[in-house]
Amino acid sequence: MQPTQWDLNPKFDFRDEHMVREGKKVSLAKIPTEFEGPFRGKDHGRAFAAHAIAEIQELQYRMYTEAKQSLLIVLQAPDAAGKDGLIRKVLGRMNPQGCRTYPFKVPSSLERAHDFLWRIHQATPAAGKVSIFNRSHYEDVLVVRVEDLVPRSVWKQRYEIINDFEKLLLHRGTRILKFYLHISPEEQLERFKKRLDEPTKHWKLNEGDYEARAKWDDYREAYEDVFEKCHSEDAPWHIIPADKKWYRDASVAAIVRDTFREMDPQLPPLDADLDEIRRLYERELAKQ
Ligand code: AMP
Ligand code: MG
Repeated sequence: MQPTQWDLNPKFDFRDEHMVREGKKVSLAKIPTEFEGPFRGKDHGRAFAAHAIAEIQELQYRMYTEAKQSLLIVLQAPDAAGKDGLIRKVLGRMNPQGCRTYPFKVPSSLERAHDFLWRIHQATPAAGKVSIFNRSHYEDVLVVRVEDLVPRSVWKQRYEIINDFEKLLLHRGTRILKFYLHISPEEQLERFKKRLDEPTKHWKLNEGDYEARAKWDDYREAYEDVFEKCHSEDAPWHIIPADKKWYRDASVAAIVRDTFREMDPQLPPLDADLDEIRRLYERELAKQ
């Protein structure tokens, strides 16, 4: 069945639905991990996402040629919540000429010898470009806090430092979108099982995943503090119900598309003499 116009443009404000409210404490336990929004199931959600991705590609092309604004997309989530899948199916569909993904792992000794934003700053997008952060500077107030990797007095100061850093990026013309992929512990365990059952996914297996899972509540609290302290309308967090992969993909695609629309990138003004170039073309054509 052909998707209708409504299928592709349902009247639904994904940003408003999923954006954290400024100054309000988030209680993750009260936010559903399973959600279908305006969609009538998976096929509808997938058709919508494909349509939104096509528009993202068009707008990213414009931003690239405009070479003024840039976009930073930050992804954070528990293990197996779908950061990799979201990048593969949605965000990675942007033109790699103007878009790069940066995975942030346990810092190297060189990285640890610098301030925690050193490695992050180098990965921020230049004018016209998009950076996708697969994990980010927020790990320095998440895993670092939960695992006691630095004293409390140190990580406590980082929220403000992060806000100042993000302000610096905004000041340069970088839009910031932050996404938390929200899954239930039951869905996570189900996905861990699939990884065990599927040999091509064995490389993802890691004892550390089970240690982090045992500290689910500590992570939840650490995330709730991030949403309270490091959210603003200029650098917003979105909490994406991610138990259904297709909803995760469709809603993030919608939010990225809507943000690009707002940025409204323009093709650059003509910098050449069109008449002269046409004349040169005609001359070459006549020679053939
Ligand atoms: P993955 O993204 O699953 O490949 O795993 C990357 C690992 O690096 C995760 O366990 C993160 O918690 C960890 N990691 C990322 N950034 C930091 C950081 N700043 N300090 C400590 N661990 C980190
Ligand atoms: Mg992992």
